[in-house]
Amino acid sequence: MKPKSGFATRAIHAGQEPDQETGAVTVPIYATSTYVQQELGKHKGYEYARVSNPTRTRLEENLTALEGGTSSRVFASGMAAINAICTMFKSGDHVVCGHNLYGGVPRLFNQILADFGMEFTYVDTSDVRNVERALRKNTRMVYVETPTNPLMALSDIEAISKVCHRKRVDVVVDNTFMSPYFQQPIALGADMVVHSTTKFLNGHSDGLGGVVVCTTREQADKLAFVQKAAGAILSPFECWLVLRGVKTLAVRMEQHDRNGRFVAEFLARHKKVRKVFYPGLPDHPQYQLAQRQMTGFGAMISFETGSLSNAKKMLKKVVVCALGESLGGVETLISHPASMTHAAVGEKGRKEIGITDGMVRISVGIENVEDIIADLDQALAAI
Ligand SMILES: *Cc1c(COP(=O)(O)O)cnc(C)c1O
Repeated sequence: MKPKSGFATRAIHAGQEPDQETGAVTVPIYATSTYVQQELGKHKGYEYARVSNPTRTRLEENLTALEGGTSSRVFASGMAAINAICTMFKSGDHVVCGHNLYGGVPRLFNQILADFGMEFTYVDTSDVRNVERALRKNTRMVYVETPTNPLMALSDIEAISKVCHRKRVDVVVDNTFMSPYFQQPIALGADMVVHSTTKFLNGHSDGLGGVVVCTTREQADKLAFVQKAAGAILSPFECWLVLRGVKTLAVRMEQHDRNGRFVAEFLARHKKVRKVFYPGLPDHPQYQLAQRQMTGFGAMISFETGSLSNAKKMLKKVVVCALGESLGGVETLISHPASMTHAAVGEKGRKEIGITDGMVRISVGIENVEDIIADLDQALAAI
């Protein structure tokens, strides 16, 4: 495959070359814990499956090609991938991060890593000046999620990378919401990209996983060591599920995006909806940045129903939209951030970042969009 092939071609072929031994068009699931060695000190590059597994190697090659990195390391979940990055740091190291991150991230930072002497500062990264002001002598990483969940605030990856690189600080971007199809953080200056492959990359809500895409040999070697030493690797079966999922990433993202735009416009026009948070609406405060930084707007939308009781009433009525946490699957998922994904943030914390009790978040799937809209319409009628 030519290295400059288009995205959909890379998704289907990078790392997914036919099996050398049999010609099988799909990458085999190497369900093995160990590998026979020819003689002492002589083997085929594989010794023990925590260290490496051919199915995993193929997935890592594929995701590297999609994000435009130099190598990737996959882990048992998105959180395991983020934790793996943090184990590259030491006690006394400082991290600057967004104030509205995926809930599991501050939980890991504040309730585990802070006990090991790491320091964290939370700022609104949508203004690059906040990032610049928070940098210290001991800052090792700026950690950014864009767009954020559930407020869909964007951060300017290119501007943040410029500021950080002047101070020799690495920028890590969680690209889960956009997928590499719509956003390429490495091309904009990011030093590492993380994903919960659980979401759009897998795309079928049938497995957990995480990846760190690297841009230097040093990062890749350290993270390979973390895989071997700490062991939170992705199983061969789940690697295979992601390899299978990414083959349709391009067509899925196109459809997610098309449906997302229709649903956002429908919600923006609806009398019962007070406000819609979607980077593809011209009244989004960062609409310009969205157009510059992303090649689509994606499928994540939040909207304001006005109160907890309104949100409850409508969420009880949905039929096509499934009430549940998570996102990025082919099916439309709808959730209530205040009581579900952001319950642990606490009322005060939610108020600070602007998450209300009436807010509803939707991950628009790839069903017929008229069915999604009709479902939302009948559910909103309950308000
Ligand atoms: C789900 C998610 C994570 C965590 O990933 P898991 O696979 O659930 O561990 C991290 N970041 C974002 C943006 C997510 O949506």
